[in-house]
Amino acid sequence: MAKRKLMMLGPPGAGKGTQAKLLSERLSIPHVSTGDMLREARRKGTPMGQEAARYMDGGQLVPDEVVIGIVRERLAEEDAQAGFILDGFPRTRPQAESLDAMGIVLEAVLNVRVSDDEVVRRLGGRLSCPACGRVYHEAFSPPTVSDTCDTCGHLGLIKREDDRPEAIRERLKGYWAQTNPLVEYYESKGVLVDVDGEREPVDVERQVVDAVQ
Ligand SMILES: [Zn+2]
Repeated sequence: MAKRKLMMLGPPGAGKGTQAKLLSERLSIPHVSTGDMLREARRKGTPMGQEAARYMDGGQLVPDEVVIGIVRERLAEEDAQAGFILDGFPRTRPQAESLDAMGIVLEAVLNVRVSDDEVVRRLGGRLSCPACGRVYHEAFSPPTVSDTCDTCGHLGLIKREDDRPEAIRERLKGYWAQTNPLVEYYESKGVLVDVDGEREPVDVERQVVDAVQ
């Protein structure tokens, strides 16, 4: 019987979202991405979405109590009762403790390891279309015609501030200070599984599938 109460841990750019989606389909359990939920709530203009938007627009992290509130509601839904894959939560020790306080016991925490230099290489090559928002990568998924959006034809792809190497290094500092301590937290609970995130995608997927058996 596969483990079904799961969490993806790892730095930005590790491929957590991709792996979580694959596992979600394979195990028929929901992919609970706090980033997706916040963006969705914001798009719909719910009270929680409006509150989150205030922080996001100010370039701040959404506070723990807001994030914890949306995760609690999401995990109470019918489709999450048989299992789920958390992606982007918990991100801090207080968030991890709040999950414990909800009585939710994770069965496996998949720690996708990728070096800082590799994260910078992956995220630093991103290009965005300012007209439609589509994201490309200089090396891995360039547009068909140089500097031109495949989707909308806009000429002139841009590198967002967030995707500049200095900005990525800054985000990584936050990851190492706030989120990486969760490795030890879940190791002590005996549920941590390391995944080498720098291998070929199909090999990363195999490690992830093995980890939940
Ligand atoms: Zn476009």
